[in-house]
Amino acid sequence: MVSQAPLVDTHCHLGFEAFDKDRPEVLERARAAGLVACVAVAVDAASAGVAAALAVSHPGFIHPTAGIHPTEDCCGDEAEWEHVEALIGSGEYVAVGETGLDAFHDRVPMPTQIDSLERHLGLAIETRLPVILHCRDAFEPLTEVVNRFAGSGLHGVLHCFTGSIRELAPLVAAGLHIGFGGITTFKPREDLREAAREVPLDRLLIETDAPWLAPVPHRGRRNEPAYVAATAQCIAEERGLDLATLARATTSNARALFGLPGTP
Ligand SMILES: [Zn+2]
Ligand SMILES: [Zn+2]
Repeated sequence: MVSQAPLVDTHCHLGFEAFDKDRPEVLERARAAGLVACVAVAVDAASAGVAAALAVSHPGFIHPTAGIHPTEDCCGDEAEWEHVEALIGSGEYVAVGETGLDAFHDRVPMPTQIDSLERHLGLAIETRLPVILHCRDAFEPLTEVVNRFAGSGLHGVLHCFTGSIRELAPLVAAGLHIGFGGITTFKPREDLREAAREVPLDRLLIETDAPWLAPVPHRGRRNEPAYVAATAQCIAEERGLDLATLARATTSNARALFGLPGTP
């Protein structure tokens, strides 16, 4: 799908091995689909390093983050955290994360995940960077933690939103942006499309979470940034907007939130 409107993939794991064989082609297809930027999200210190290196070789197009994912074994590891803090301190990163809570995979004890989340939120506030939040089956505890930090300059995105409209409201009230990915296009997820219609337009972001969760009509394949256009199209239709309007709004939101180049 080729879109003339500028799009940003606000959450992809471009540094992952899944793209090692054909990353140049993936990036070429992204640009051809109208993408003007990708936020390359880290899940630990090593992937943050890879994302930063990609940003150096694709200046202005790839923007790296640093953080520890709540399902990584190193979540709660002191040395890993210090490494992430040092990376964020380098000033090369556009966001802290992804961090968050995941009660579905349950690989890391919840108290450890909460402690890590609090550290990430503290670091984001201290450095005035946005935070990227992951949440799976843990909206209540996540909202509780976020609310303790809200109002002190906390800003960021709850990415790949999979909750209900009821879970959405407190997160929007806490000042967060909400990111929608490929799952929004899956036929049975009318609940998600309802949420995508409800988010204030100035808080809406689109993403792929590539290499996972490719949107319809690419479902089942490896996901890649170019496919963000399919999610944009779906949400535009849901909201009764044309694609260009939706693209302009979400791209402007992404540029403002992550401090990306280009006119917001
Ligand atoms: Zn995630
Ligand atoms: Zn992710």
